[in-house]
Amino acid sequence: LTNSEKLLVWYDASHRIMPWRTSPADIKRGTRPDPYRVWLSEVMLQQTTVATVAAYFVKFTALWPAVLDLAAASEEDVLKAWAGLGYYSRARNLKKCADLVASGHGGKFPETAAKLQALPGIGPYTAAAIAAIAFNENVPVVDGNIERVVTRLFEIREPLPQAKPLITGRVAKLTPPARPGDFAQAMMDLGATICAPRRPSCMICPLQSDCRASKTGNPEIYPFKSPKKAKPKRVGAAFVAIGPEGEVLLRKRAGAGLLAGMSEAPTSGWTASLDGATGVEAAPFDADWKKCGAVRHVFTHFELELIVYRADAPISPPLGHWWSPDYRAEALPTLMKKVIEAALGDESSGRKLSD
Ligand code: SF4
Repeated sequence: LTNSEKLLVWYDASHRIMPWRTSPADIKRGTRPDPYRVWLSEVMLQQTTVATVAAYFVKFTALWPAVLDLAAASEEDVLKAWAGLGYYSRARNLKKCADLVASGHGGKFPETAAKLQALPGIGPYTAAAIAAIAFNENVPVVDGNIERVVTRLFEIREPLPQAKPLITGRVAKLTPPARPGDFAQAMMDLGATICAPRRPSCMICPLQSDCRASKTGNPEIYPFKSPKKAKPKRVGAAFVAIGPEGEVLLRKRAGAGLLAGMSEAPTSGWTASLDGATGVEAAPFDADWKKCGAVRHVFTHFELELIVYRADAPISPPLGHWWSPDYRAEALPTLMKKVIEAALGDESSGRKLSD
């Protein structure tokens, strides 16, 4: 058997079960994967783990079972359902993409990677994954798991990201034209379950007899990576006002820029390229602000530390702000949930704010 055949035999018997996946047995019986579900899962999986995505995927497909349902939803509802998955531009692009598929493609996803890539939020990797999995297009799919497997198989020492074209070339040669989608998912599964970053289980790996790194006994050193630049640090202050019934004062962020359109507790200007103010002088209004902690959060391009202040402030909300009786139901980014939880402290755990 070739390596691809061995891998597919292993996949047929040992594939992971996921809510968006069509099993190889069902595919053999003639079921085709639903492109909407494949697309939705791939967009959710960008920068997020399978374990986190599963619950969101189930929620989204219950709310919006088909692309036309998602196109009919409001952006606000989509952002709310997305809250906690991070990278909110992905949620906005998800909605834009659904709108475009509904209005410009008659509700059907285009069937090739080249055409898919023209849609919002679909980069080269996602386009290849959807085309291979949903439409069986013979295109190489390379995610982080596959990079690890391939650099080990062929002992590729060129560091990432420079090694990407080389890896893609290898994957293109390995991909069997009859089952490109199953092959891509098999490689992902192998990387996630057997060819793990630490202590890969080479003894039970279907590719072991041809794996060069396994023969040298040191697969863990792959893939090689170019050193990362340290992320710049920014600081700022966040102000959490709590009403008499435990309500939290919120406002909406501007429609453009980082976390655009999401809700937040008022903060100082940490999104500027210069560090924001960390003192109580940056508060949006006078109150008895008390420092109650700090929250760290890592964004794609910088690390942020917000000093958190709390005040029990039964005031009427300033313009553009509102008292939220249940902050968990708001379109709050993870950073802001952390900020509010830091302000509420232990007092909030196990107690509903509306009690
Ligand atoms: S033999 Fe080991 S290193 Fe090679 S692909 Fe399999 S699990 Fe990974």
